[in-house]
Amino acid sequence: MTTPDCLIIGGGVIGLSLAYDLAQHGLRVRVVDRQQPGREASWAGAGILPATGPDEAHHPLDQLRVLSHQLHPEWAAALLELTGIDNGYRKCGGVYLARSHGEAAALGGLVGLMREERIEIERLTPTALADLEPGLRPLVESDDLTAAYRLPGESQLRNPDHLRALIAAIRASGVELDTETPIDDFEIVDGRIISARSQNERLSAGMFCFTSGAWTRQLLAPLAVSSGILPVKGQMVMFRCATRPIQHILNEGPRYVVPREDGRVLVGSTEEEVGFDKQTTSAALDELANFGRQLVHSLSNATIEKTWAGLRPGSFDGLPYLGQIPALTNAFVAAGHFRGGLFLSPGTAVVMGRLLRGEATGIDLSPFHVGRG
Ligand SMILES: Cc1cc2nc3c(=O)[nH]c(=O)nc-3n(C[C@H](O)[C@H](O)[C@H](O)COP(=O)(O)OP(=O)(O)OC[C@H]3O[C@@H](n4cnc5c(N)ncnc54)[C@H](O)[C@@H]3O)c2cc1C
Repeated sequence: MTTPDCLIIGGGVIGLSLAYDLAQHGLRVRVVDRQQPGREASWAGAGILPATGPDEAHHPLDQLRVLSHQLHPEWAAALLELTGIDNGYRKCGGVYLARSHGEAAALGGLVGLMREERIEIERLTPTALADLEPGLRPLVESDDLTAAYRLPGESQLRNPDHLRALIAAIRASGVELDTETPIDDFEIVDGRIISARSQNERLSAGMFCFTSGAWTRQLLAPLAVSSGILPVKGQMVMFRCATRPIQHILNEGPRYVVPREDGRVLVGSTEEEVGFDKQTTSAALDELANFGRQLVHSLSNATIEKTWAGLRPGSFDGLPYLGQIPALTNAFVAAGHFRGGLFLSPGTAVVMGRLLRGEATGIDLSPFHVGRG
């Protein structure tokens, strides 16, 4: 390959989405991953795409959320057309539940904030919930429920399928994708990265973008760029049911139940700051499985097909890092999306693509600036 316009370091959903956007705009792109692409947090996630309000948000993070919400159905259709792969994007709706008075108060506060964003929300009586989701009738009849709301705009995608579609799409668009290629050093001349080093190979490019998820902080450290990105482990349990027991995504506090069309049901997740440890623990898995069974009683008869854990790229202030590295004119970062990277990936790709091409980003990226923390 001739020298690419951009070398993207990390083939998770953020790097692959950026490669897709850049390739659509005619740039020559190379993506490198230290293993197979799309096997880390982006594979491990649940694929929940939260609802947003209309296109009037003030904070840049909310603007990125609205943009991503608009782009997901468009990207799903375009990826299907280009690759024949259905990424599982479905506007299935979400239900938010509380089972104690404290939880109901916290949920009421969250609903108030969402209403300020003009997100469509409907309060459900227990009867309305049981009519909407007959699979929750035992929960409703148990009298445990203290509040329930429906958000019709909540959606989902099947992240392993989405990643497969992105990989097929970028390959079809001429992007070079190098697996088993860990980057560990850089050659810098006059405030520009000239090449990235992998084992004994030097990979040169016009621009470099760091999309290395939870590992971005380590990769930036030799460049004297500080960041507050840290790994936050999330564990997940997947049940296999004969038929789909519920239609909506169920949310209660930080935990959720996500029904797939084929009868698989994901239950997640934990938030654990335990470094780069990706081991599951029986205590957390039991707790998640029981949580799922308490909400959807029919899961008591379902088998657990698989369990896993992934490392979310958390950031110290809850915002991703999006922008140019201050002292390096041709180096950029897009990382630290924590619990929302699958959701925010198309918006991130579009604004970063504009930045790399020297266009107006459309969203003020200053709250996301690189070097903070
Ligand atoms: C259990 C769980 C549930 C989640 N649920 C959701 C959800 O419902 N909705 C949502 O929006 N988000 C969810 N997330 C969060 C989401 O998965 C992440 O925010 C997102 O995947 C981050 O994408 P990424 O591309 O930045 O990182 P990753 O997917 O981790 O990709 C980083 C890539 O960089 C590569 N890499 C690292 N170091 C190097 C190096 N030195 N050289 C080359 N390559 C390197 C890695 O191999 C990896 O492929 C969840 C996460 C977890 C763990």
